[in-house]
Amino acid sequence: MRLVMLGPPGAGKGTQGQRLSERFNVPQLSTGDMLRAAVNAATPVGLAAKNVIDAGGLVSDDIVIGCVQERLSREDAKRGFILDGFPRTLAQAAALDDLLNSSQHRLTAVVELLVDEELLLDRVQKRAQEALDRGATPRSDDNPETMRQRLASYAESTAVLSNFYYNQGRLVSIDGMRDVDRVTADILEALT
Ligand code: AMP
Repeated sequence: MRLVMLGPPGAGKGTQGQRLSERFNVPQLSTGDMLRAAVNAATPVGLAAKNVIDAGGLVSDDIVIGCVQERLSREDAKRGFILDGFPRTLAQAAALDDLLNSSQHRLTAVVELLVDEELLLDRVQKRAQEALDRGATPRSDDNPETMRQRLASYAESTAVLSNFYYNQGRLVSIDGMRDVDRVTADILEALT
């Protein structure tokens, strides 16, 4: 199973990606998690990415493609993967196609989660509040101002990927506004 989770911030890519990862026993690969780990470890990638993430922009294609290329080459990703948050640009999508072609693989499907913008803002605010309630620090980009920029980055660079994958015949569009179990069931049904 080789899946891409597509959708704006707060659409549920992480939650659904985790469920699919358990269901199909393949790793969930989140470029956001990889970049946040790099920021925390203050690696050169982290230092280059920190300000971009905090501003709600997109980290450069070269950096992100390099991270994904390295991660996909590891043993646990050989049988499949759930990509969460990658690709986010046409250049990244083309690089992913090249990577997969070079190992004679292809994507099983691209799962697009459709959620209204108003609900996305609510969800991200809720995620920040839940972190505070747990005594954890919310993500530095889970605030209304950065969220607006993240949505703008999505509209500007990522939304075109729906068409790109539709034209490849791989796009599966799912209503991401139903309850979380229903969304999982809808994805599984669409994949069979
Ligand atoms: P996420 O956890 O997927 O919401 O990603 C958090 C932030 O990391 C994004 O707002 C971007 O700044 C950066 N990021 C994650 N994935 C990518 C990507 N594929 N391309 C560029 N930037 C990314």
